Amino acid sequence: PASILEAPDATLLTPRGLPPRPRDAHKGSNGHVLAVGGDHGTGGAVRMAAEAAARTGAGLVSVATREQHVLAMNAARPELMAHAVDGPQTLQPMLDKASVVALGPGIGQAAWGHALWQTALDAGKPTVLDADGLNLLHAEPRVLPAAIVLTPHPGEASRLLGITTADVQADRFHAVRTLARKYAAVVVLKGNGSLIAAPDGRVAVCPWGNPGMASGGMGDTLTGIIAGLLAQGCEPFDAACLGVGLHARAADAAARHGERGLLAGDLLDPLRRLVNGLE
Ligand code: AMP
Ligand code: MG
Repeated sequence: PASILEAPDATLLTPRGLPPRPRDAHKGSNGHVLAVGGDHGTGGAVRMAAEAAARTGAGLVSVATREQHVLAMNAARPELMAHAVDGPQTLQPMLDKASVVALGPGIGQAAWGHALWQTALDAGKPTVLDADGLNLLHAEPRVLPAAIVLTPHPGEASRLLGITTADVQADRFHAVRTLARKYAAVVVLKGNGSLIAAPDGRVAVCPWGNPGMASGGMGDTLTGIIAGLLAQGCEPFDAACLGVGLHARAADAAARHGERGLLAGDLLDPLRRLVNGLE
């Protein structure tokens, strides 16, 4: 994209998957992702994140969500371990078992989501924070886990920075770098030409992706992919760069049927081929 001309020190993502698994791999050696979210009406968001983590190769994936979503989730995707959580006490034992947390898809900003958000961040595990998880952070700044990836779209980034979305879009490099420093976090600024920044100043640009990705659930899928990579041992900046690239390339592969009507779930099959280096 033209935007890399604005930042000569930025790197362009290159296509890659993960190395083959060792022959003696077992599910415990590929991490355990816990996806937390899905308040009333938004159970699909946390399910998309969880499925994407599983398709990226996480060994185990659990979901902490509202009771009303559990039956459908376990029926449609029995490989996921979906549990009803009504508050911190039911979430804590799930956090204890997890190696990585995907926090925010569909979590909302009401009391239920806020309590889970607080408890999940207190656990201090490597975390991908997205969606209303970011809006809650704007409302209540707090200490974040050491290994943390924030994945705002331009609207979420504008709230975190206290500027308008137009200002974010006018200088996306400045916005992503400022957020990475402000939160001492790896930050993905999503949208056409997604940017990834680390607090130490590294910045990467994604050259893939298409407007078909402007549809519900797409960002939740990215959250799960990055969590799945963290679970398999990637460092946060590597997980974010690799994850953004896999997500966008999977969307480009899925767009062979056209950009209009592209669904987040369409990314899961091509994602699997890409993560294994088969495309
Ligand atoms: P969200 O807004 O959280 O659902 O995230 C949307 C996802 O789709 C992000 O990964 C964006 O980078 C991607 N996306 C949305 N619109 C476009 C676009 N026009 N071009 C490329 N990627 C896009
Ligand atoms: Mg989103």
